[in-house]
Amino acid sequence: MSLVEAGVPAELERILDYFQISPKFDGEIYFCEDKEAFSSKLQFEPPSWYNAVAQPGLKQIVVFVKPEQSPSQIAKLLNHELVHWALFQLPAQARRQIPLWLHEGLAEMWSDRGLAETYQVSLAWESKNNSLPRLSSFATEFGEEPYRASVGYALAKEFVVHLVGHYDDELFLRIFNNMEAGRSFDQALVDHTGLSVVSHEKIVRANLNSWWRVVQEMYPHFFLFLVLIILGLVPFVVSRRRHHREALHAVWQSEEDEVEMLAGHNDNIGDE
Ligand SMILES: [Zn+2]
Repeated sequence: MSLVEAGVPAELERILDYFQISPKFDGEIYFCEDKEAFSSKLQFEPPSWYNAVAQPGLKQIVVFVKPEQSPSQIAKLLNHELVHWALFQLPAQARRQIPLWLHEGLAEMWSDRGLAETYQVSLAWESKNNSLPRLSSFATEFGEEPYRASVGYALAKEFVVHLVGHYDDELFLRIFNNMEAGRSFDQALVDHTGLSVVSHEKIVRANLNSWWRVVQEMYPHFFLFLVLIILGLVPFVVSRRRHHREALHAVWQSEEDEVEMLAGHNDNIGDE
């Protein structure tokens, strides 16, 4: 745990720097090893899928550490909460305009964690099934149901990664500046990209609607599997081809022998 904790100041520094946020307050990090301690520290009963919560009001980040979690998983969990922690320190005007899904999308992008991995979410499959919820349905809450919440987290991350990939790392910095000046997130996004949340979401959803993506998401090891099968087949194919060639040779040989015999016979006839 101490190694995980030791990385916190430097990571928070990187996040504050990325979003150009000046820190306003400090807090404590608490690690709880059972659900009771976790909810008592949070002062509310969390949904089953909650692993950690950043609570600026209580000046604390509370992490629920399960025995099966590796230090790197806990570090990712903590990095996710540190993004929330940093965003809570934005000027109030900007902070209040951030929809919940954007908070989670930015935190998921930064920590590259996967609540989605835990619940084996495939956005492409949901899209093909026509069951991919709209981002706007996660504006204020993700609900109690773990799978739906994971879909929301994954979709929000997809949206943020799409924006950063198409524009640049400073896009959110500029958007937050506009929000600080009184624009909503949607207006600020239009100011800097020319497209609204709904238009960007259409692009993201169109990209997700692909069977190719379904295969990639549901079978991340599909291509390794394919390569292993091909490699496994090579000796078999080589030996079959050799057998085939040998059989052909044998046929040619016997045909040649026959021709020679006939030729010899004809010669003999000619001699007679
Ligand atoms: Zn979060």
